[in-house]
Amino acid sequence: MSDSRSGSSIGAGLLSLLENFGEHSTSRQLYALANHLDGISVETFRKTFSAVRKRLKSTLPNIAGSAAGRQWLAEHHASYLDYDVHTALLSLAILQADSGWTAPDSEPRAIGFRNKQCCGPKSGHAPQPRKSLVSRAYKLSQATARHLADDSASTPPDALEFRESECQDCPLNVDRECRGCGCLLDPNWLNQGKLRWRSEACPAGRWARHNDTRRPLINPTRNLIFHVYPLKGAEWNWHWHLEQITNYAPLFNGKICIGIGTGPNLASPDVVQSRLAGVPVSDWVIKPNTKQMAETSTFVDLLRCVKTDDPNAITFRFHTKGVTHRRDGVEQPWARMLWETNMDISSVQDALESHVVAGAMLSREPLVKRNRGGDFFYAGSAYWFRSDVFQRQWDTYEKNRWWVEYWPGAVASQREAACLCHDFVEGSVLSKEYFEKEVMADWNMWRIARGLPVQ
Ligand code: SF4
Repeated sequence: MSDSRSGSSIGAGLLSLLENFGEHSTSRQLYALANHLDGISVETFRKTFSAVRKRLKSTLPNIAGSAAGRQWLAEHHASYLDYDVHTALLSLAILQADSGWTAPDSEPRAIGFRNKQCCGPKSGHAPQPRKSLVSRAYKLSQATARHLADDSASTPPDALEFRESECQDCPLNVDRECRGCGCLLDPNWLNQGKLRWRSEACPAGRWARHNDTRRPLINPTRNLIFHVYPLKGAEWNWHWHLEQITNYAPLFNGKICIGIGTGPNLASPDVVQSRLAGVPVSDWVIKPNTKQMAETSTFVDLLRCVKTDDPNAITFRFHTKGVTHRRDGVEQPWARMLWETNMDISSVQDALESHVVAGAMLSREPLVKRNRGGDFFYAGSAYWFRSDVFQRQWDTYEKNRWWVEYWPGAVASQREAACLCHDFVEGSVLSKEYFEKEVMADWNMWRIARGLPVQ
């Protein structure tokens, strides 16, 4: 590469590096990588690359030149070229952190899970394929950028202990390499390993990324607030939701508060209450249903039931999702996914240590393109929140059914929101096709990481 090419793409810079690498298979992967990288001048990249390489060389043994180094390479199935690939990717990570530059996200986010053929039999226990070098290097670049942006903070000891215990029995932990993302879990020649960087998160949601706001929950009190729309003819839906409440009731050691809509074509509150006879419901909020308000009609009253100053209180909020939709519609598996991922209490509580709200299917954009309800929402309106919200404007609301979905964005910022499973792809609309292609992949990874069969 020459200075006269300054201003051309970073991809050209990498291609130039390949001149030294010959026809090794790794170089073909680098060629593929080079095609993804645009927007940084060659000269900027060269300077960063040289600085990073010099730093690495001064702190690491010559990988290929020592017996220990060769053994490491053999153990990690690595090639000598990994060294330059990682150097290149670390350089990019630094540039990302410094300039806000982002590589196009053309790498599939969960290789091997979006393509069922790569997942082996649907047992949930089949060995998972190792990620490609490009995929691992690309993830490393992103992780390094996050770590640098987090002032290179280490994971607090007690959080590290939790991460270790979660990875310990995870089927995606293969020889201390996470097959969900391709990262090495333990300290290695490049970094301290995925577990020890505070800014990292488990790709299957078993443990969360942390930040300066972290406050461990101590013997947390767990509440449930739930709105039932007992539509006649859709018992297959709301009976099922009541069964979930019954099954998961032991997880809630605080209050269980149930809202019920009343009106024409709805089963009476007595019928709903009798189906929850085995559940220790602490509060009932019964309100006439209107099409405009729907689940918002009981929402603020339900919040009032669990209002507390206890900093260790957390609450889960949900409703009879899918009750007004078809039985074969996407809303039904969507509701199942929301229940399942939100009831994995250990991961929920870990996420809430550094976040005010947590839920699955976090969309990092406004629900509607207007300046209301914040800049994120949980698609499907199933979410947990810490009692911190009661120090904020928790009880103001708009008179429409969408307020329950706006609410997390109204009481918390996107930075305070954790995603338990499936970060919504920006600009997407949830359709059956989107659910099957995007959500199922992440939900299946979530399930495999817990030893459950894929759906
Ligand atoms: S999926 Fe999560 S729990 Fe499993 S090995 Fe990877 S980081 Fe650990």
